[in-house]
Amino acid sequence: MSQLPETMTFSCLVKKGQCEIRKRPIPALKDYDVLIKMKACNICTVDYQQFMGLREQQGYPMAGGHEGCGVIIARGAKVNDFQIGDLVALGYQGCGHCLECRHGNVSGCTSFRSESEDGYKFGEFGFADYTVKSVDSLYKLNSSLDPSEAAFTEPLATVLNGMKKLHVRPFETVVVIGAGPMGLLNALAARSYGARVIVSELLDEKIATARKMGFIVIDSKAEDPVQRIKEITNGEGADAVIAAVANTKAYEQGIQMLKERHGRFLVFAAGHPGPELNIPANDIHYKEMEIVGTYGGTNDDFEDASKALSMGMIDVSELIEARYPLQDMQKAYQAAVDGNYRISIVFDDQ
Ligand SMILES: [Zn+2]
Ligand SMILES: [Zn+2]
Repeated sequence: MSQLPETMTFSCLVKKGQCEIRKRPIPALKDYDVLIKMKACNICTVDYQQFMGLREQQGYPMAGGHEGCGVIIARGAKVNDFQIGDLVALGYQGCGHCLECRHGNVSGCTSFRSESEDGYKFGEFGFADYTVKSVDSLYKLNSSLDPSEAAFTEPLATVLNGMKKLHVRPFETVVVIGAGPMGLLNALAARSYGARVIVSELLDEKIATARKMGFIVIDSKAEDPVQRIKEITNGEGADAVIAAVANTKAYEQGIQMLKERHGRFLVFAAGHPGPELNIPANDIHYKEMEIVGTYGGTNDDFEDASKALSMGMIDVSELIEARYPLQDMQKAYQAAVDGNYRISIVFDDQ
């Protein structure tokens, strides 16, 4: 590219139910920054729930968009290991100095800055034609990947973080409660670890998608999921249960699905307002149960996620519901609210 752009066009939420397309100057590249021409950025729950007014504590104007990927078109003076033309996924930008960052747990950075210098909340600027990132927050991908699929690196990293904490092993039975995008991403990951995966869901459309992807599916409005798990496992129960919905009733069912001893339970999703998890402490003690939480991926998890997608070992194509250009962001948000799976913002080649 001979002439580099000077302004970036991006989408931000200015109030509940309303987004705007704005322009700002592209920030000057620091030594370890690169300029990225975005290829795709998917609308996460964090984004569309702000559109719905459910997470207004996040503040306005919000220029989010963190599930993205793009191609490097310019490099800062000291960037060596990333090349012009590399397809990269966006990761988390931490301070690089705190204990969490030094352990690679960037989502737990204690001086995490979620606001840009010009006052945009969640200022990741993924819903933008161009964006500037420091290379320590980027992960290389196979350039031939579909951009909307490559944009699953961040959510997959989050899922792999939970998978490692759950210690999923081959031939185990893993139940995923909820067949939304994150539920099915958990199901895909558990299957790639060699587990038998059973998905519990009540919405017909999501049940159909989960079946299409080859999972054993329990229709939880038609049958008792706890009973069904007991039948499938010859009365033993599941080795591990992943709660990909945030709901007290679902938690209760999940705990009851576990095998009698050494069952593991992963709280994957957050709810707003937050649900209660009610378990007798003696059960945790006598049954030697493990209750695990996960929130974000570490740098290692991002590396693994970019590998899994690049090698085609995890196929997320069914989890993309529709693609929209940036200009139709308002419609795209509404589609994300109304839809079941990821809405992807895609950028034309210029
Ligand atoms: Zn996300
Ligand atoms: Zn930090």
